[in-house]
Amino acid sequence: MRPALLTVLLLLVPPAFGLTVHAADTSNEASSWQAGVSRVVITPPEFIWMSGYGGRAHAAEGKVHDLYARATAIRDAKGETVVFVATDLVGVPKAMATTVAEAAGKKHGLPRRNLMLACSHTHCGPALDDRLSYMLDMKEQDWKLVREYQVWLNQRVTEAIDAAIADLQPARLSTGSGICRFAANRRTPKGIGPYDHQVPVLKIESHDGLKLRGVVFGYACHNTTLGFYDWCGDYSGFAQLYLEDRHPDSVAMFFTGGGADQNPLPRRRIELAEKYGRMLAVSVDDVLDEPMKLVAGKLAASFEEVELEFNQLPTKEQLQEDLKNSSRYTSGRAKLLLTEWDRDGSLPKSWPYPIQVWQLGGELTWVALGGELVVDYQLRLKRELGESSTWVTGYANDVMAYIPSERVLEEGGYEGDSSMIVYQLPSRWKAGLEDQIVSTVHRLARQNGEKVQAPE
Ligand SMILES: [Zn+2]
Repeated sequence: MRPALLTVLLLLVPPAFGLTVHAADTSNEASSWQAGVSRVVITPPEFIWMSGYGGRAHAAEGKVHDLYARATAIRDAKGETVVFVATDLVGVPKAMATTVAEAAGKKHGLPRRNLMLACSHTHCGPALDDRLSYMLDMKEQDWKLVREYQVWLNQRVTEAIDAAIADLQPARLSTGSGICRFAANRRTPKGIGPYDHQVPVLKIESHDGLKLRGVVFGYACHNTTLGFYDWCGDYSGFAQLYLEDRHPDSVAMFFTGGGADQNPLPRRRIELAEKYGRMLAVSVDDVLDEPMKLVAGKLAASFEEVELEFNQLPTKEQLQEDLKNSSRYTSGRAKLLLTEWDRDGSLPKSWPYPIQVWQLGGELTWVALGGELVVDYQLRLKRELGESSTWVTGYANDVMAYIPSERVLEEGGYEGDSSMIVYQLPSRWKAGLEDQIVSTVHRLARQNGEKVQAPE
């Protein structure tokens, strides 16, 4: 196709949200961004316990590579700033998100809605000060080290945010997507259920487009290739380091999609984690080499917590019975819930679930949802909000449990039901959570759409 004809056709395609960005404005708006990037090491200074697998028997004892918190700040022409942080961690404790967001609010005036904290869900990272860590057989001294690490970690993540904001400078942003095929649906029968092999990519370049400063990418798959006792970011850790090696002076950031029911298969050998990392990084590199879509316009950010209800709270008698259960997860949960019952006078009926939606110009709707999100959410939201313009991230702002779709909740199994015991929560979720979450995303996306379209 001749370039002139291509241009005409592109102008005929209605932009997302019916944005009326005129051709003449696009270059101005595309060049009015500022971006800053940073990277800090968050490897625990000591060998503390690792989280992700309940079967761990002792603390970490080695290191494949360092674990990092990487941050990017983006500011539009009006001064609206968002900061997103990717961490090589198994989760994001709610208390950590609150502490870090408060520091960012105080220091930089950053509203909660403008900060996204996510994790790669590596299972070769440290235990955190959250409910999930109760599945581990840790003694008081082990807990003490984990809690001390959490305080240090919160500080390090805050420093990453400070550094990204301090690094703000004129930038050019563009989006695209690739394909990577190692993720497989892990529910029975394995490899049969839905999956999403798309790799969304956001490129951050210097103002003149001569220097790559940051590359942000996603993939919907559990970071569970490895299960040994060495610190490691697993496949996404390797992918980030591979890209940073290929593009010196840039920061590569991984965001887990709705990969809660997806595994990298086969697994358990370091060669496989390296291979998957390389496959993902090469897919990202291919996107960087192709023409990408320039992001133009304004930023809009929304954040809301909706109350996800538990299906049925246990009675005290049931919990007292569970104390005698031979499963450490079940007896541990009973102990924790009884303690909370005594302290608070009742058990919580629901959990505040974080939903964040960002609009980057007319080109990108970024949905960041809490918890271990199954792929059905990603596929549905892309279908309903726009396949090419929607990016879905899970494991963001609080990882409190698995978040099954209505289908997975009904089917039950680990992601739909029994994982709630591992997360030390009172019961499975009440039916209706999928529509509750999706309708909130739609409402926030509409609000953002109106904000970015508002006249100057
Ligand atoms: Zn998981």
